[in-house]
Order: sequence, then structure tokens, then C-alpha cells
Amino acid sequence: MTMLPVIPTTPDTPDSVRTRRRPAMPPRHLADLDLAGRKAAVTGLGEPAFRAKQLSTHYFGRLVRDADAMTDLPAAARTRLAGDLLPTLLTPMRELTCDDGATRKTLWKLHDGALVESVLMGYPDRVTACVSSQAGCGMACPFCATGQAGLTRNLSVAEIVDQVVYLAGVAASGAVTGSPPRLSRVVFMGMGEPLANYPRVIEAVRRLIAPAPEGLGLSQRHITVSTVGLVPAMRRLIAEELQVTLALSLHAPDDDLRDELVPVNQRWKVAEVLGAAFDYAARTGRRISIEYALIRDVNDQPWRADLLGRLLHGKLAHVNLIPLNPTPGSKWDASPKPVEREFVRRLREAGVATTVRDTRGREIDGACGQLAASEVTEAGSADPAADAEVAQ
Ligand code: SAH
Repeated sequence: MTMLPVIPTTPDTPDSVRTRRRPAMPPRHLADLDLAGRKAAVTGLGEPAFRAKQLSTHYFGRLVRDADAMTDLPAAARTRLAGDLLPTLLTPMRELTCDDGATRKTLWKLHDGALVESVLMGYPDRVTACVSSQAGCGMACPFCATGQAGLTRNLSVAEIVDQVVYLAGVAASGAVTGSPPRLSRVVFMGMGEPLANYPRVIEAVRRLIAPAPEGLGLSQRHITVSTVGLVPAMRRLIAEELQVTLALSLHAPDDDLRDELVPVNQRWKVAEVLGAAFDYAARTGRRISIEYALIRDVNDQPWRADLLGRLLHGKLAHVNLIPLNPTPGSKWDASPKPVEREFVRRLREAGVATTVRDTRGREIDGACGQLAASEVTEAGSADPAADAEVAQ
């Protein structure tokens, strides 16, 4: 009898189903690795170890993502290294700008056809990148466009980092008029739930804060991780001893309503999720940001402002109200301005620092309602990260 190689088969699982269950991650990229890992990869390709630093200086120091532009590398080495460490991860499909060029959204296609978005927002004193951590999202918040489509897959470390490096390059080119050329802030408020892709998001943060050429050299305090409130992951984040800003998407101060608006609340209740956020603030000394999308006649009642005020009174917390950006076909709308003002007034009366996020990028966020993310514009208030610094 001839011995045949053993090929594992699962006859009852067609290929298409298996593919759906375990989506393919992209090829390895240098941003997936720390400097030691890059040295090992480079020597594994038969190149001298110093090439790792050379590549890293191009990518993180000079924001060069295309190997062809790394002309100080011998052509043969360049081809070999690029093939293994600089695969194309993100292909731009569309680039949209608004706010007189101060806001720019990029729609990316990933290697497997999945789509994600990033947004660059310029201000007179800073430039912020809003990045995606997953293709789609599994959290199913009913007011969020991404939540409706479900989760496609986690992004790799490099797919996250490459969004930032690209946007930093756009800023450095002077394309964001009226803003400094250096990208200074990153918010994980694009597609996806960052803490549901925990190890990769943390690794990406480490890459963003590592000094060049290992990483991008951003300040931890200028990085905001936003979560629906996955309590075990929030507790893990506390243990990392990082100094990033934590934003909690609360959206309702009571379990009845939050169970509906943020379905993960059915697992971790308001008290528990706020407890974890307060512990993060206590351990890091960093003010947490409570995100609250104001939805007309849903969560904007004065009594809910008062309840939120009581929950946050005396805590190291700041409320960031977001005028709801209605998603196509949604039954919900933003609260009228007088209702919003009353909500703000009551929170402030309770001693809670409160700002209203601007509607930056609203005209270009089309399919993805929440990507107008992340910055607040009330007189005297900066964004949560800057506020937290003042609070130190
Ligand atoms: N999954 C993370 C990050 C994603 S989005 C989180 O939920 O925190 C960043 C913020 O935009 C979240 O607070 C989210 O609730 C909010 N958001 C989503 N859709 C929105 C919409 N249609 N209008 C206003 N804010 C929205």
C-alpha cells in the first residue's frame, strides 16, 4: 500500500465557511516588529543587521513607506527587504477633504478587500489622526454605522500603525493648511472596538510611542483609546501602566437605556464599567473622557444629565458630548441645541467638566457615521488629552 501524505480534512466544513470564520491576516510588515525583531528578520534574509535601522529610519523617521524611495539601499537589498518587510497593506480607494482642507478622510482597501477608514484633522495648534482598529465592529451599537455591518476582522499591528505613518506623512507634506506639519495626536475612534483587538492595539500603541527609529515617538498622553467598556480588557489596560487617555463610550447613565444603546452593557453594567474607568484614572492620574452621543428624546432628558452628574461628581472625568450624526435610515436624530445646552448646564452645575465635540468632517463621513470623531471646541476647553494634562 502506498503511503499518502496526511492531509487534514474537515468534510463538513466547506472552504467558504472556514474562510469566513478565520479571515486571513495580512503579510508581515516591519511595523509588526520591534527593532530586535526587525534585526532578526533582516539577518534572516542574509542582509546585515544595520539594514533594520536603515529601513526603520526611512519608515518611522522620514515617513517613507515606499521602498523605491529608499535610494540609499543597494537595489538588490531593497527588493529583497521590501518584499519581506514592506508589503503594501493599505491601498487608498478614496480621499475626501472638507473644512477647507483641514479634515481629510481616506478610505482604504486591505489586502483581502476589507475596507477601513482613517481621518486626519488639522487645528491651529495640532494635527490628529483618527484610526481604525478593526474592519467593521462586533459591538452592534444601533446608532453607529459600523456597528450595523458587524465585524469582518481585526487589523494587524502594522495595518494600524501604517494608517498613522501615512497620515503623519500627509501632515509633514504641508497638506493640512493652517496646522503644524507634525502629527501629534492619535485617537482610536475610527472603525472597530480597540479593546476587542487588545494585543494588537497595545502593540500598535507601543510602536507609536517608541522613539524613532523604533517607532514614531508620539507622546502617550496624546493617544486616546476609546472603548464601549469591555471591563476585563480595561483592567488589563490598567496593568500595562501606560499613560494613554481612556475614553469610555457611555451614552446613557442608566442600565435600562444603555443595554439598548451599547449592547455590551448587558454583560458589564454602568456601575461596573464606570468603576473600571475610575480605577484607570486613579492608577494613571489621567482624566478619563466620557463619550455621550446626544440623541433626541432618547438619552437627552434633564434627569439623565442629573444622574450622569451624580455618577461623575468628584471623579477625575470629563464629559464629551457628541451631537448624534444620524446614520442612513436611522430613526434617531441629534438633540435640538437648546436641549443640548441644558444638558451641558446641568452637568457643569454638578461640577463635571463638559464639552461638546465639534462636527468636524460631517460632510464627508457618508457611510461611517462616527468618523467625524474626536475633537471638542468649546471656548476654554481643549480636547480630553490636553485637559487631562492640565489636570495633572
Ligand atoms: N468602539 C469604540 C470606538 C469607536 S467610535 C467606542 O465605541 O468607543 C468613537 C465614538 O463615536 C464612540 O463614542 C461612538 O459611540 C461614537 N459614535 C458612533 N456612531 C456615532 C454617531 N452616529 N453619532 C455620534 N457618535 C457616534
